Amino acid sequence: MIIRARIVVTMDGPPIENGAVAISENQIIDLGTFPKVSARHRGEKIVDLGQKALLPGFINAHCHLDYTCLRGKIPPQKTFTDWIRAINAEKAKLSREDYLASINEGFAEAKRFGTTTIANLTAFPELISQIQAPVRTWWFAELIDVRSPKRANEIIDLAIESLRSAPNWGLAPHAPFTASRDLYWRCEEVARREKVLLTTHLAESREEMSMFRDASGPLHEFMREIAWDLSDCGDQTPLGRFLETVRGSSTAKAFEARNDKKANGDGQEWIVAHLNELEESDFDLLEELTSKFHVVHSPRSHNYFGHSPFPFKKLLGFNICLGTDSLASNESLSLFAEMRTFQRNEPGISPDKILEMVTVNAAQALHQGNALGQIRAGFRADLIAVPRSGDGNIFEQIVAFDGPVDWMMVNGRRAAANLPQ
Ligand SMILES: [Zn+2]
Repeated sequence: MIIRARIVVTMDGPPIENGAVAISENQIIDLGTFPKVSARHRGEKIVDLGQKALLPGFINAHCHLDYTCLRGKIPPQKTFTDWIRAINAEKAKLSREDYLASINEGFAEAKRFGTTTIANLTAFPELISQIQAPVRTWWFAELIDVRSPKRANEIIDLAIESLRSAPNWGLAPHAPFTASRDLYWRCEEVARREKVLLTTHLAESREEMSMFRDASGPLHEFMREIAWDLSDCGDQTPLGRFLETVRGSSTAKAFEARNDKKANGDGQEWIVAHLNELEESDFDLLEELTSKFHVVHSPRSHNYFGHSPFPFKKLLGFNICLGTDSLASNESLSLFAEMRTFQRNEPGISPDKILEMVTVNAAQALHQGNALGQIRAGFRADLIAVPRSGDGNIFEQIVAFDGPVDWMMVNGRRAAANLPQ
């Protein structure tokens, strides 16, 4: 099959006017101008998208589809801790069926906004086998051992049993204030053994900072109420603690012992969500890292909480991706809207760089840099089309588009069956 469009935005070199992409099964096999591609693949069926721009499908690098049904349910709270209390109260009202419906609704919405891959954290891995994900999905089991810190192994083993039904999976110890060091270590061991991905929330709120650095504040108080061990709070930032944890794991020590420079235990395998609250000493720590982890920024969730400005310019050298986070702190699952909010916050960054954050960069974070996020021969046929008008900057037009995306292909198959052909 040949797909022709007015412009093909490959994210691998300049866009191609009057471009075409040849697809065989689930792969892109050729691309170039339409006359050249059609001459090289005579007799192939041609799908002409007319005045549209064809580009790689978007990758949402951090999302919780479990909470799609909480859209609009929690108005911004005074503190992050109050938000945790509010979401816990909402969660207590939900049944297993509600969560299933919520996840399915979330997939449908993400798809409408051109998302072809989702890194989805779920607190209910046991539901995965009942869900037919309509887009490429990395299922991360969100793990918390705050109420049972001695059971890290058991919690992980149980999650893995469910995760194995998914084609792509990983582990997500929730955050340093809800997951013990032991849980982080064991997740690292499993990730190394099973060759799966790791993600976590880190340095999200000011309260997480005051909990670990000053042993005070509302989050510290909240964690004391639920009898979490706070004995090691008071002298470290969340980032400092995270780095100490991942460097102290047996996996990191094994790397050190073997003097394995490529994987030196600096947490480079981690996809770290947030990183909003950092101190000067944290930037020194980041500078020293020999290999940088991936960072996911969620611009609209960030605004909802009113965190300190995301230190984008100080994180140069890190692979920055965008994610929607959950609808308990956001309005929609649109990565177009995330790109626009990012653009408003960082007006100096060009739209093509912003588009990289939901394509090339996010693909790299998922270790799919050679399969997803670009239109290249040999890559998966995950494609979307958006309107192209006039001769303005195509990247600017893509970022400005608000959906819905009415043409989409996932793994070589038309995926927008609910929309006109
Ligand atoms: Zn999150």
